[in-house]
Amino acid sequence: MYDYDLLVVGSANADLVIGVERRPAPGETVLGSDLSVHPGGKGANQSLAAARLGARSALLARVGDDAHGRLLLDSQRAAGVDTTGVLVGGAPTGIALITVDPSGDNSIVVSPGANARLTPDDIRAAGALFAAARVVSAQLEIPLETVTEVARTLPAGVRFVLNPSPPAPLPDDVLAACDPLVVNEHEAAVVLGGTAGDSPEDWARALLALGPRSVVITLGAAGALVADGRTGTVARVPSPRVEAVDTTGAGDAFTAALAWRLGLGEELAEAAAFAARVGAAAVTKAGAQESYPTADEVSAR
Ligand code: ADP
Repeated sequence: MYDYDLLVVGSANADLVIGVERRPAPGETVLGSDLSVHPGGKGANQSLAAARLGARSALLARVGDDAHGRLLLDSQRAAGVDTTGVLVGGAPTGIALITVDPSGDNSIVVSPGANARLTPDDIRAAGALFAAARVVSAQLEIPLETVTEVARTLPAGVRFVLNPSPPAPLPDDVLAACDPLVVNEHEAAVVLGGTAGDSPEDWARALLALGPRSVVITLGAAGALVADGRTGTVARVPSPRVEAVDTTGAGDAFTAALAWRLGLGEELAEAAAFAARVGAAAVTKAGAQESYPTADEVSAR
């Protein structure tokens, strides 16, 4: 009945990474390592993570008519993501310019490019995609007005999952549509306007009071906390213990897995337990999309 288990509305970026001994001061030039280019962006990460797990996933995004856009389309298609919703042109593909120093610290400049040109009109024109999806997920690397349009026009019965990253205060009608709102500690504080309280349980209750039907707070190695506004239950979900190599993109893999399993009818705590195993698997390998596990790799843990 549904063509897609998960429709992701979000960003697609090329991550351009150079290793440096130290960062240049103003006016200075430093030499770095060879350039490596990786497909990324929270939207593209989520749709690819879901597809790798076996979900029928689709991406609604905008890339430039350029080599980075083709890299993103190719990597999505190779993983089995439906890219009929990926719009091409209007601006260069979004990029993240990343320098990494020997201690592993990153400095990042993001050029949103085509991501900033994914408009509410583009959402209105994609009605057929929304009607064919069980679950829609979004993040905030595209304009907030575009995410707001998604939340306002979602067909009845389609579940909406939002990870407000990078975080911003959210309109009431966006908050009310979230089931769940997925945040880490930093995002929780921004959405709450800084009055987070002492424990993740406090933050979850405060977030629920803003209107979402449910809330999931990711807690890194400690796993996650789920809070369901319908039942009033608040519960911790542990993450498997793993040797963390690189946590880049773990939150995106977690959210994609959660959204997919909720669409299959799992309860919030059950879906979050699966998502925590996916997030834990993703931190055991370098990179974002390169680190995402298949369903077999998750069940082997
Ligand atoms: P974000 O990157 O958005 O801040 P987190 O760091 O909380 O998100 O990671 C998302 C999920 O990935 C966690 O809820 C957890 O399940 C898993 N995870 C992240 N870091 C680790 C870790 N060091 N060990 C085990 N699991 C982890």
